[in-house]
Amino acid sequence: MSAEVIRVSEIFGPTIQGEGALIGQPTVFVRTGGCDYRCSWCDTLHAVDSEYRHTWALMTAAAIMDRVAELSGDSPLMVSLSGGNPAIQPLGELIGMGRGRGYQFGLETQGSIARDWFADLSVLTLSPKPPSSDMVCDPAALDACIAAAGDARTVLKFVVFDDRDYDFAREVAGRYPTLPVYLQPGNHTPPPPDDEDAAVDMTGIMERMRWLVDKTVADQWFAATVLPQLHVLLWGNLRGV
Ligand code: SF4
Repeated sequence: MSAEVIRVSEIFGPTIQGEGALIGQPTVFVRTGGCDYRCSWCDTLHAVDSEYRHTWALMTAAAIMDRVAELSGDSPLMVSLSGGNPAIQPLGELIGMGRGRGYQFGLETQGSIARDWFADLSVLTLSPKPPSSDMVCDPAALDACIAAAGDARTVLKFVVFDDRDYDFAREVAGRYPTLPVYLQPGNHTPPPPDDEDAAVDMTGIMERMRWLVDKTVADQWFAATVLPQLHVLLWGNLRGV
């Protein structure tokens, strides 16, 4: 039996996936703890910063699967693996176990760490971080992630705050012309992790959404899909929904 344990920040749902290729689809979230990045606008610091490590649990794949099954009433659905960077964690056993019970798995990562079990995902969302994050995207690591996914459905998702982010998205997406692209306006108001009711700058989000739609259309980037963060529109920055 495997002795590997997974660092988990939170497991919640069922709710809907609020972003990207699976937007609107019912899902249970498994959010892992820890990230190799520190994006300037990270909206999940509670799953990133070691200050919150005491809130993370070490769980076996079987224990996570039991919790997912409990939340979903034993009815298989899409499990969203998120973080932090879930690629840090040993998730292969969990994915294999869940698939054996009829569950599907989607995972989102910035594309800094490739894992062979990406090939067992139903959807791999690679979200390279743009200049506004103050992080630097490693093209070789992104290539390795795409190669590791093999035939698994792989999509690109970009958070866009400004012109530099847009140009970055255009450039990176241009390197992978066969991959679907999702653009998402940035949210300037990440919540203080202890304040779940922190107000969201909804006016700013909608302005950036309109700006991004106008820019994408004017640029004739017709292969791109522009989407808001649906969960933010519905629930603001509330956690666990
Ligand atoms: Fe936060 Fe994602 Fe950046 Fe990690 S990669 S710091 S989870 S936004």
